[in-house]
Amino acid sequence: MKRVLILGSTGSIGTQALDVIERAPDAFEVVGLSAGGDHETLIGQAAKHGVRRIAVADPNAAARAGEAWTGGEVLAGPEGLIALVAESQADLVLNAIVGSAGLGPTIVALTEGMDVALANKESLVVGGELVTALAEATGAQLIPIDSEHTALHHLLTGEPPGVVEQLIITASGGPFRGRTDLEAVTVEEALNHPTWRMGGKITIDSATLMNKGLELMEAHHLFGTPYDHIDVVVHPQSIIHALVQLCDGSTKAHMGYPDMRVAIGYALHHPDRADLPIANLDLVQLGRLDFEAPDLDAFPCLRLAREAAVAGGTAPCALNAANEVAVHAFLTGRLGFTGIPRVIEGVIDRLGAQRVHDFEALYVTDSEARAVAHELIAVHA
Ligand code: MG
Repeated sequence: MKRVLILGSTGSIGTQALDVIERAPDAFEVVGLSAGGDHETLIGQAAKHGVRRIAVADPNAAARAGEAWTGGEVLAGPEGLIALVAESQADLVLNAIVGSAGLGPTIVALTEGMDVALANKESLVVGGELVTALAEATGAQLIPIDSEHTALHHLLTGEPPGVVEQLIITASGGPFRGRTDLEAVTVEEALNHPTWRMGGKITIDSATLMNKGLELMEAHHLFGTPYDHIDVVVHPQSIIHALVQLCDGSTKAHMGYPDMRVAIGYALHHPDRADLPIANLDLVQLGRLDFEAPDLDAFPCLRLAREAAVAGGTAPCALNAANEVAVHAFLTGRLGFTGIPRVIEGVIDRLGAQRVHDFEALYVTDSEARAVAHELIAVHA
């Protein structure tokens, strides 16, 4: 049995991960669960899966969980989360925490030599080379849970070094594909993703194309591929998730209906295969697949992300923190949709790109970028 710890278990990825685990009860033991603040759902999950240790990030929610639950131990706050990971003796830590808050638990898991199934792409966007070097040093594996990167991981398996020329990740284009009049779009419109059902933060990132910018960095760090060998193509049907182009002129594509359980099952069962109740493609019924270049004028977030990625150092960390603050401001009605890239660009212009020597530098940049972003939002609003 594989001992699995699930961080962010009450969110979209976390609940689907438990669904995948329930389908293979002999393959997994769930040794811990964590959530941001939804302690009632978390306690229900713990009872169902026989879990004796949970962590709740929000201290007030953690206190309420401690009163309500007699089935085990409740750990509180960021320190509690770190303790849950460090003391779990898990074989695999599935990190589905939203945003840069996921970096700390990734570092702890890798430091302890535990494999990480990574749905928290910010761990790589922010932590970059430090995170991959840590994994290399301890021998822990990083297995992505992201449809494009799961596809790339799958496509690259078995290919010898030096034969891969180009990685291509696809983007649905989000709800505003083909539009340029985005000043007045509403939160409801932005949350209405055409092909994927996901959490709020990532759905807005998909609408701005920032998600694809973060995924560029994720692919770069996971596979060690230079940025000029990673392309983004808009593909509105979300059937092809990624492609790999080889030196002999062949292109391999990874296809399937958009369902995150494919990526989750791949990471949980790796190197084995999950048996999931997901239909295979019906190509005749699909009829056609469409492709187009991303519109970097209407969706400047993708351009900003590529620029920050190439600049390196603290720039991706600042970009990510500014984006998290700007998206939250948009979701709560304090910033317009087109204000999101304006705030991010302002933060990057102000902070520039500094070299990164340790994780501490990243935490400093993260909080500086958040402070500047709040300042700029106050001006824009
Ligand atoms: Mg993705």
